[in-house]
Amino acid sequence: MFLNWRFLKPKARGIHLYNTKSKKKEMLKPLHSSHVSIYSCGPTVYAAAQIGNLRSYVFADTLHRALTNAEYKPKHIINITDVGHLTDDADQGEDKIEKAAKKEHRSAESITKEYTKAFLADLTTLNIVTGRYTFPKATDHIPEQIEIIEVLEEKGHTYKTKDGIYFDTKTFPKYGELGGINLVEQQGGARTDMRDKKNPKDFALWKFSGKEKRLQEWDSPWGVGFPGWHLECSAMAISHLGEQIDIHTGGEDHIYTHHNNEIAQSEAATGKVFASIWMHNAFLNLGGNKISKSEGNSIYLADLIKEGFSPLSLRYLFLEAHYRTPLSFTKESLKGAENALHRLYLFTDSLAKTKATFVHNFYLNRFKEAVYDDLNTAKALSLLWQLVRDGDVSNGSKKKTLERMDRMLGLELFGKRLKVDIPQEIKVLAEKREEYRKQKDFKKSDELRDRIQEKGYSVLDRDNGFIIEKL
Ligand code: AMP
Ligand code: ZN
Repeated sequence: MFLNWRFLKPKARGIHLYNTKSKKKEMLKPLHSSHVSIYSCGPTVYAAAQIGNLRSYVFADTLHRALTNAEYKPKHIINITDVGHLTDDADQGEDKIEKAAKKEHRSAESITKEYTKAFLADLTTLNIVTGRYTFPKATDHIPEQIEIIEVLEEKGHTYKTKDGIYFDTKTFPKYGELGGINLVEQQGGARTDMRDKKNPKDFALWKFSGKEKRLQEWDSPWGVGFPGWHLECSAMAISHLGEQIDIHTGGEDHIYTHHNNEIAQSEAATGKVFASIWMHNAFLNLGGNKISKSEGNSIYLADLIKEGFSPLSLRYLFLEAHYRTPLSFTKESLKGAENALHRLYLFTDSLAKTKATFVHNFYLNRFKEAVYDDLNTAKALSLLWQLVRDGDVSNGSKKKTLERMDRMLGLELFGKRLKVDIPQEIKVLAEKREEYRKQKDFKKSDELRDRIQEKGYSVLDRDNGFIIEKL
């Protein structure tokens, strides 16, 4: 019998995601029927997250929303790295948190607490609902990390050097699967700083404190020290999600070292495939360079808000591009995204009194098709706009369909939007306008609306008053 797949339930058709490991899109086949396990590498909380970091979490949130919409139950971890991430990913340099704490003459804990709070606030501002995620801290999982090293030691994957316990990549022949690192070439010609490592790509599982007392250090069977950054992720993933997980995400800078190391130590310890699908977002760039705290070209969400941008326009900007496409950040592009989003809000606000009726299946199914095809949010947004402009669709149906689409986009099309600070002068004008409106003096109220608009704001009437938005 001929079956039109467009009318099948989404789950039956499946979600396809690009797997960095196989270099192709694969259908998600969860390991358990009860849930989908996802581990997203979280921030190192020594400073505020810059907007490039935030691209990583809007991407993770889009994945989460897509899965929920397809009736999967995501069990999703975003870890908090609060120790052990060195200024150089290859186990050299200073611990970023230790360095920040010493510079500011504060305890490591006060630094990590402050920036964890700031990180969670940024997520909320971008409508990433934190209650949907678990945020474990590396420092709460020291025993689990030591346990993995003990297993690796027992299985002959480790060796000791002057500064720590290292993973011997030669004992894991599959090393470098992600991004295709050729270990033979690495072992041969490498002139990297080997210190007393056996192979260039060997990495620290445990680092000794050395002569200087550290702010954060723990006892271990090998001596006082702290865990390697890569190990933290394996330990938190395994203890919260199990030895095998469905999806692992992170920025593409993590492929080469961090994620190959996570795979090596997890799989060598458990003998099982660690993650089925590896997903990586491309960078957010500024003038051709990756935005990064260490490059010193950071831009922060708080600054954009201070400049008057509404935070969800950054989310809109991210959604306009595919997550695997590098995105060049400019104020102009953010302004463009904000204009588009506000046009959308003008439309959805105009539906305030319209009763939502039926989902328009043609649009919603094509929209889901785009999102379930490796999170093609750019295509999804263009379908949304087609719907908005379609004169043949009733407003009630548009409203219902847009509500459903927004569950996947998180743009608060009908919800409570986080507003930017509105200057007092504008607020006063808007209050006056509201008074005239109540007195049915529409001439005066329209004059004030124009004045407000000239100053770059718009007043939108709601059932119970008005809201002001920046144009
Ligand atoms: P970090 O706090 O440096 O460990 O980074 C947190 C997350 O942000 C990681 O998944 C990084 O790969 C990602 N990331 C860092 N910089 C950028 C950027 N400019 N664009 C996109 N993702 C980034
Ligand atoms: Zn990680």
